[in-house]
Amino acid sequence: MLIGPPGSGKGTMANIMVNNYHIPHITTGDLLREEVAHETDIGRQAKPYMDRGDLVPDGIVNKMVEKRLHRPDSRGGFILDGYPRNLNQAESLDEILNRLGTKLDCVLDVVVGEEELLKRLTTRRICPNCGAIYNLLNKPPIRTGICDNCGTAIIQRDDDREEIIRTRLEVYKKQAEPIIRLYRARGIMKTVRGDVGLNALPKEIKRVLES
Ligand code: AMP
Repeated sequence: MLIGPPGSGKGTMANIMVNNYHIPHITTGDLLREEVAHETDIGRQAKPYMDRGDLVPDGIVNKMVEKRLHRPDSRGGFILDGYPRNLNQAESLDEILNRLGTKLDCVLDVVVGEEELLKRLTTRRICPNCGAIYNLLNKPPIRTGICDNCGTAIIQRDDDREEIIRTRLEVYKKQAEPIIRLYRARGIMKTVRGDVGLNALPKEIKRVLES
């Protein structure tokens, strides 16, 4: 599991781990954005919360995660990202994992300073088609405004505007603290530096996971 504020590079870290361990990256933010894009019932319920930068109600998210974890590609392991966001969700996750007969091996707490986060998020762009993440400052696409993977025009997420980002960072701080305490008490928590730069990141992850 990856825990870290928005913009801490969890997505980038997850991609590195997907390549190393060949397990799926399950992120509730992406799952919810998919539901919104497809205008499903879940998407319609979730959208107003997401537009404000608030958390979507637990009931919706818990059900969505359980459904995703039951898919066959999760059987050999998975990387959870963006979930749980509060103790209620953490409790639900325990129940879901019990039902699946599995458990969490490791929780990574990704640490990055607040000014750096703001800078990263306001310059972040994503591909609405394949989910690729870019940054105008340090990871722009080869052709300006166009996704390297699939040729789609890249966009700024609605909630990556500064005033919304500040709300998301506040929400994160309040919600993350008890979760970090919970997993630390279970002895499965490790701290990983999210500010070492893209090139050094694979080594930093390896260092932490193998420590
Ligand atoms: P993220 O991509 O993780 O920054 O999530 C984007 C938005 O999706 C958040 O601001 C929330 O509105 C919603 N969201 C993502 N994950 C969760 C979750 N575990 N619980 C509630 N809301 C979530």
